[in-house]
Amino acid sequence: MAAEGHACEICGRPAPEVDGWAARIPGYRLVRAPWRSGDRWFVDGPLHFSCLRELPDPGEFSREFTAMATGSHEPFEVEIGGAREVLARNGLDYRTEIFSGELCRIFRHGTMNRWLVVEHSGPWYGLDQSQLKEIAAGRPVRSAGGETVFVMPEDPGDDIYHWGLGDLLGHLGVLDRYPALIDQPDLAYEFFEYYPPKRVLAYFLVNTVPLPEEAVAFLRDYAARYEPVRYPEDH
Ligand SMILES: [Zn+2]
Repeated sequence: MAAEGHACEICGRPAPEVDGWAARIPGYRLVRAPWRSGDRWFVDGPLHFSCLRELPDPGEFSREFTAMATGSHEPFEVEIGGAREVLARNGLDYRTEIFSGELCRIFRHGTMNRWLVVEHSGPWYGLDQSQLKEIAAGRPVRSAGGETVFVMPEDPGDDIYHWGLGDLLGHLGVLDRYPALIDQPDLAYEFFEYYPPKRVLAYFLVNTVPLPEEAVAFLRDYAARYEPVRYPEDH
């Protein structure tokens, strides 16, 4: 069993967030979970990308996610329990499509120098301008590496202080949900802290983001001609 809010919304197993392998969608984004029936209509928690890819119809989720991600502040009509309701949804505002390929679509943000790659099979990747520059220079995209918090299903004892990422995922029994991740030679996992009373683990992780090759090829060319937009909030 995984701690509530830290279980994959598809398989129910622990799902620590890792750029390119598992990410979280909060319930207020109102992204429908097409694989589920019953009263929990919307995704509200993390998803293993490997679980998304294995859905019978991954495109259905991808279309739901894309509708939210490319929207801004629109009314959103949904059928709940046989009745139609109109809810207010705040999208992510990636409003301009700049690429559509065999594997993915790419969108530019409406007011920031940010991009979103959405695979037709479900996974998605956010990119900022520094990451776009890495692509332009022919280098792999590295994750931003901020602090990640994960609630352990049970207290693992003192071992957790010495674990690497592979040990953590192995202990949680979910190595198979993160294919090829721990084989990355430049994986940088850093334990930050663990708070036993609430079983809260915090760590830093920098990994290479597994962007589809067609996205990299397009963005390399795109970055060379992209003129960054300066917005009032830029410094
Ligand atoms: Zn899963």
